[in-house]
Amino acid sequence: MPSLRLLVLFFFLFFPVHSQEDTPIARFLRYLQFNTAHPNPSYADPISFLISQANAIGLHARTLEFTPSKPLLLLTWPGSNPFLPSVLFNSHLDSVPAEPSKWIYPPFSATLAPDGKIYARGAQDDKCIAMQYLEAIRNLKANGFTPSRTVHISYVPDEEIGGFDGSAKFAESKEFEDLNVGFVLDEGQASTGEEFRVFYADRSPWGLIIKATGDPGHGSRLYDNGAMENLMKSVEVITKFRESQFDIVKSGEAMNSEVISVNPVYLKAGIPSPTGFVMNMQPSEAEAGFDLRLPPTADPDLIKKRIAEEWAPARRNMTYELIEKGPIRDYLDRPLMTLTNDSNPWWPVFKQAIEAAGGKLSRPEILASTTDARFMRQRGIPTLGFSPMTNTPILLHDHNEFLKDTVYLRGIEVYESVISSLSSFKGESY
Ligand SMILES: [Zn+2]
Repeated sequence: MPSLRLLVLFFFLFFPVHSQEDTPIARFLRYLQFNTAHPNPSYADPISFLISQANAIGLHARTLEFTPSKPLLLLTWPGSNPFLPSVLFNSHLDSVPAEPSKWIYPPFSATLAPDGKIYARGAQDDKCIAMQYLEAIRNLKANGFTPSRTVHISYVPDEEIGGFDGSAKFAESKEFEDLNVGFVLDEGQASTGEEFRVFYADRSPWGLIIKATGDPGHGSRLYDNGAMENLMKSVEVITKFRESQFDIVKSGEAMNSEVISVNPVYLKAGIPSPTGFVMNMQPSEAEAGFDLRLPPTADPDLIKKRIAEEWAPARRNMTYELIEKGPIRDYLDRPLMTLTNDSNPWWPVFKQAIEAAGGKLSRPEILASTTDARFMRQRGIPTLGFSPMTNTPILLHDHNEFLKDTVYLRGIEVYESVISSLSSFKGESY
């Protein structure tokens, strides 16, 4: 009988562990193992890995740096007709942090569980698409496909912290202008059903800080225009508005992402004492912070008017600060949305590519949060959010984020169809 040690040696000789294989899943696991979590994401190492992948399949690679230590990788597959606008596939390098103690496997170990689930921070958001783009091009090249339009892939830093040092600067750059991009595909979200989700807009995030001032007074007194009283009145008005928007969602008239959301995120008031707060004194200042999200269908000027007249009126000694995080309108002052009907010539090409891969799209949606797609839409470039994940729980930014190996592999086939269709689209003026 051979010894156990010999058996183990035999096993590893003939069945190498995944990280040593060179398969699509092994390459995905390798990319997932880079710790790209904020606040200190590793950018240099994943970029080196992606460049080696690009070299292996004959793509041009170029690193751009619009902010020191925040590199951006641009890969290019030249098309046969350089006069046609190009197509750009975007993904971000960074990830949100993870709390290892809440995970069943370490978040950057990229563990392939026996049931085929690949556990890793970034498995859904959005390292899957980063590697699927490359795998799809690898297969298309192996099959002898040549694109008419040039295909670019961008790997950008800092999306999870707003993208201001990444995509925002990239979209404004001379280098971007020179790419002559006609259409962009960026990240989307998982779908729990059979249909693929697609996003044509993001909501715009605003931070709203409301401050109230008033005369201080004894805690026992009833008087008008105290700071706390004024702030509480505002909170009441804002709460009513929040309910009216939420009612629209609850009745099924609109999706969560199609209404204006406003949620209180902090309250700051009171006079500190050694044991907590002074209890018999009404303070002269009070403040509240709100997270406000606007769908592109909302009129930002109307909301600003509402804030000035109803939520923080000067006649009640109130002031406010509005922090607009990113663009609201494109360069022609249009709402930041990509049309999903035949008036957008790219839409039917994309839709048919999904169908050709045996898939179906659900009703196009507005994304409840934001992505880098807004910076591309700001330039007036049609941009859709899409990550090919069906029958998958939505686990982005959650504990135990995972993606099934079979779902990942099917996504590669979907991108083969999407990349070949979009890069073959002959419309000259788009
Ligand atoms: Zn993302």
